[in-house]
Amino acid sequence: MTHALRASTFVADAERTSWHDETLWFVRQKRDKAVYAVPEFQELRELASQIKEHTLSRLDEYLMQFEAKAQRNGVQVHWAANAQEHNDIVLDIIRRHGATRVVKSKSMLTEECHLNPHLTGHGIEVIDTDLGERIIQLREEAPSHLVLPAIHLKKEDVSDTFHLHLGTEKGNHDPQQLTEAARQHLRAKFLAAEVAISGVNFAVAETGGVVICTNEGNADLGVNLARVHIACMGLEKLVPRLTDLGVFTRLLARSATGQPVTTYTSHYTKPAAGKELHLVIVDNGRTQQLGRPDFRASLKCIRCGACMNTCPVYRRSGGHSYDFTVPGPIGAILSPNIDLKKHSSLPFASTLCGSCTDVCPVKIDIHTQLYKWRQVLAEAGEIPAAKKWSLQFMGRLLASPTAFGIGGRVARTGLRLLPYRLTHSKTFNAWAVARELPEPPKQSFREWYRETGKV
Ligand code: SF4
Repeated sequence: MTHALRASTFVADAERTSWHDETLWFVRQKRDKAVYAVPEFQELRELASQIKEHTLSRLDEYLMQFEAKAQRNGVQVHWAANAQEHNDIVLDIIRRHGATRVVKSKSMLTEECHLNPHLTGHGIEVIDTDLGERIIQLREEAPSHLVLPAIHLKKEDVSDTFHLHLGTEKGNHDPQQLTEAARQHLRAKFLAAEVAISGVNFAVAETGGVVICTNEGNADLGVNLARVHIACMGLEKLVPRLTDLGVFTRLLARSATGQPVTTYTSHYTKPAAGKELHLVIVDNGRTQQLGRPDFRASLKCIRCGACMNTCPVYRRSGGHSYDFTVPGPIGAILSPNIDLKKHSSLPFASTLCGSCTDVCPVKIDIHTQLYKWRQVLAEAGEIPAAKKWSLQFMGRLLASPTAFGIGGRVARTGLRLLPYRLTHSKTFNAWAVARELPEPPKQSFREWYRETGKV
């Protein structure tokens, strides 16, 4: 199913679509206010971009340095070439400890690898502890946003979900009471967990440590209570030095939610006494993307979600319409690398307005990459025949002044004479279904120009 078809389900609820659009635009405006308050913000973006580009150009060296330092700190490092290997490694660590209860903080990588179904399929209870993640876990849904995983839901939806699963009062939509119910429910899970799984926001090659940023402190509570901490990271999360980190922490929260900094920015460098710290470093298609010169810059992403909040297509089509772990503009340039055929409609889910590129804190040329993916898809024959033929037709029409003149005359006459039902038909002109067509002028600009004797 294409992005457009999936989006049609979302936009069918016009009220929810408007609310989703306005809510994310509010977050975008908060981001703007936070950014304008930092005069050197553009310099920070440039610096972050250069640090990431440098790191990617020597990724092998930094990964080896990181592994050696981490091992010296007493961390157990594992390498996974793909999602299956990642899931097997995590399951193996859990089993070796005879554990059956696991808490997990927010991690898009584990979503990408479908870790939860893998673990539950082997009899392990996995509880997502980020509030948004827990809500969608109870509803058996995927996250619809990188930072705000349940942004597609209203408080009424959360109330219904909590009534069903946590036994809260029916019809009670009070956000404070709903949050308190989640807090009580999760507290018991935290205390019972034997293993805590977390994502990684940044990994520092110089120290061998990892950094986890959350607003709820759920990662820290889980990690500090459990005997075993398994941190899962994509291999692009590296920064070379500890001093580089400040550049990214200043950019991340401001770009994501408009906060000056995330509430908790925690460094984990070695296991606490009597405990274990495992790091699982995952490739899963990243080196393939690194080998594509036109698309390697997508690996600079720090998962702030700003490109989603600003994207007019994402805001009005919802994250689930992308059917990929990472939705929005960044998902549309990461997904074809994983499965070109399956995600062939995503690079077209964009107006190419460039707003995503403008807000990206690490200066990824997102809209240029979207355009390039369209070219790759066209060359690979992965665009629908109707789109291919209509583009070929338009190419010829626009290349010939005579054909363009005749086409204009036919269109002007057709718009005047044909019945409304035909000019606004879903089959022949889907564009006009939700838009009014302009009043056709009596003559073209060229005809007027000739008539008034200007040539
Ligand atoms: S592509 Fe840029 S704006 Fe989008 S999530 Fe990644 S870092 Fe943020």
